[in-house]
Amino acid sequence: MRAAADAVDREADRLTELDSAIGDADHGGNMRRGFEAVRSELDEGVPATPGSVLMTAGRKLVSTVGGASGPLYGTLLRRTGKTLGDAEVVTGEELAGALSAGIDAVAQLGGANAGDKTMLDALRPAADALADSGGKDLRAARTAAEKGAEDTTGLQARKGRASYLGERSIGHQDPGAASAALLMAALAEAGGE
Ligand code: ADP
Ligand code: MG
Ligand code: MG
Repeated sequence: MRAAADAVDREADRLTELDSAIGDADHGGNMRRGFEAVRSELDEGVPATPGSVLMTAGRKLVSTVGGASGPLYGTLLRRTGKTLGDAEVVTGEELAGALSAGIDAVAQLGGANAGDKTMLDALRPAADALADSGGKDLRAARTAAEKGAEDTTGLQARKGRASYLGERSIGHQDPGAASAALLMAALAEAGGE
């Protein structure tokens, strides 16, 4: 979570720039506010298990981020954490499975499918790459997320604010897919890669 907060802080301007092209220019600010609140909460005390860290962080995102991304990322972290349960140590395979469950919850909440030009277009390939490696290859997950985010440029948005633009959303990278790639990069970094 701290690596994620650092990455979001570093890249907030880029995220807002992407959101200014096809949204309302607040994605960097939303993500920064949310992850700084997560950082402060964890500075007060770190919950005992990986699952409870993720659930705490997810709750914080929901309560501090007003935009679409708050409930969506909040759901991702809460469901991933809940799926991990109260295990003190989590294997790569368990992480891959929990992440997939978290992504399913995001899809259910937001009603988006693959190719709708959302954060799912970075998250899903990342979780698939992680699962394909038996939960071992965080670097492959990161690379898949980055490619998924880049590939949203050619897509037309079908969910969220960018969908209001119709065909004019084509030619711009989706801000939420870009932030999802940042989060996967932070995970790979924290995993020692
Ligand atoms: P808002 O659009 O409310 O200003 P943000 O700018 O913080 O919220 O986040 C926008 C991002 O949220 C989009 O780029 C997209 O990736 C993601 N998003 C929006 N709606 C959905 C949805 N229904 N399902 C999945 N992701 C979505
Ligand atoms: Mg926005
Ligand atoms: Mg907004």
